[in-house]
Parts: sequence; structure tokens; C-alpha cells
Amino acid sequence: MTTVAPTPTVAGEAITLSGVSKSYVTAKGRLPVLEDIDLDIRAGEFVSLVGPSGCGKSTLLKIIAGLVGYDEGTVTVGDRAPREGRDDIGFMLQQSVLMPWLNVSKNVELPFTIARRRGPQVGERVNSLLDLVGLSHAASMNPWELSGGMQQRVALARALALDPGVMLMDEPFSALDEFKREHLNIEVAQMADDLGKTTILVTHSVTEAVLMSDRIIALGVNPGRIVGDITVDIERPRRAHMVGSDRFQQISNDVRAALAEGMKGGQP
Ligand code: ADP
Ligand code: MG
Repeated sequence: MTTVAPTPTVAGEAITLSGVSKSYVTAKGRLPVLEDIDLDIRAGEFVSLVGPSGCGKSTLLKIIAGLVGYDEGTVTVGDRAPREGRDDIGFMLQQSVLMPWLNVSKNVELPFTIARRRGPQVGERVNSLLDLVGLSHAASMNPWELSGGMQQRVALARALALDPGVMLMDEPFSALDEFKREHLNIEVAQMADDLGKTTILVTHSVTEAVLMSDRIIALGVNPGRIVGDITVDIERPRRAHMVGSDRFQQISNDVRAALAEGMKGGQP
């Protein structure tokens, strides 16, 4: 995998949430999910969201992506309100959701097809994306022939296809074994640095959050609210061995303490 962007990239965009609240309307009534979320993310910053299941992490990402609405507050991504289908936001999920009838190359090309962009530069861009994620050799393989880690690399290349300023990643490494996971953690952190994208990662792993992020937002549950905002002042580039350092452990403990506090404060 190359560590330098093969094509010029768009700089990251800042994200601002101010007083954001969200509830879902369900058969049993209104379910409050997020309450009064204030969050300023700098352009190019790498932020992880951690918190118990159901605290609204995925909802928060979907709000930023413009996939769900919110009841109160304001949200801006690069000075504009979120809107579904913005091509300056890349989204990556736990499952790679590759189209089984398209090969690797065609899956990465899909965003261009949907945006009706064609021409020789599209082929070049697809090749450079495959190079970026270390899959040039797999261009003509089918999704079912790939390992889980390779599938997520394809999903990553596809999310980067239109060169978004913002990357949203919802537990993208959860289905991988620990070794593959750590490997991709380091590579994706490096890539985010090189490409300058603003990145929000949702993860259940405190270690993964500390290893990759500039900053970790801990959320409490019932309703989802911010209970900790922890700066990760560990040098970059990040390396796997840093997990063993005293500073790493200290920050991990701070995150765990914030999460424990968030569980306490929650209503039953
Ligand atoms: P997380 O990603 O932190 O696990 P989610 O954002 O997925 O949390 O969900 C937060 C809460 O909102 C959960 O209680 C979940 O069941 C509920 N929820 C999520 N999506 C919907 C929906 N479309 N309609 C109703 N309730 C939802
Ligand atoms: Mg979720």
C-alpha cells in the first residue's frame, strides 16, 4: 500500500453540531436518542466516537451524512447543511456491501457510474485507488473471492472514490480478526493523515480509538450525550508498538472512566 495520495485530494472539511437533539418515532411512542450534542471537529481532524450500544453513534453519523434528520439544533459540514447524496462525504460500514455481480474494479467505479462520470480519467482514478488500498493485484477478482479484510479495503477505496472531504466510518473493522484489524488501523490512520480528510470513526474498541485518533468523544446512553472529550497527544505516525506505552494506557483509562461515568448517569 502506498502512503502518499496518488491524486490531488480535497482538503478535509470542518463539521459543527450545535444543540443537536434527535428522537425516533416508534410504535411505542417517541424514543429520545441524542440530546443536546455540541461538537466542533476541525478540518482534517481524526475523531473516534465510543459508547455503549444504542447510545446513538450510528444515528450521529447518519445525521452528518444527511441520511436522517434531527429535531433541534444545527449541523454544518464544510459550511453547508447535511444533505443526502453529497459526494463530499464518504461512508463506510461494518459490512462492505459490495455488489456481488461486479468485480473489484467495477465496485470501486460504482460512485462514478452513479454520478454519471465517465472517461479515461475514471479508469486512472480507479487504478490509483486500488493501488492506495493495496489491491491492484485483485482488480478483476469477484467480491466472494476476497477475505473480509480485502472486502473492507474495496469498500474503503469506493468510499474515497469521489475524493470526499469527510470520511464517516461505522465500525468498519469489527468483523476482522485482531491481527488484520490492527494492520488496517495503522494503514487507515496513515491514509487519513496523508489525504487530510476529516474522519469520524465509530468503534467499540478503546484501543483502536486511541491508536487512530486525534481525539475521542465518549457518549453516554439514555439519552445519548457527550460524556468525555479526550485528546490523544501521541505522536504520529502511529505504530502498533505504541499500544504498550504508559501514555497510551493512561489515555485508554481516561476513555474508560468517561464511559463508566456515562453508564452511571443514564436513566434506566
Ligand atoms: P448505536 O450505533 O450507538 O448502537 P443507534 O444510533 O444505531 O445506536 O441507535 C440508537 C437508538 O435508536 C437505539 O435504541 C436504536 O434501537 C434506535 N433506532 C435506531 N434507528 C432507528 C430507527 N430508524 N427507528 C427507530 N429507532 C431507531
Ligand atoms: Mg451503530
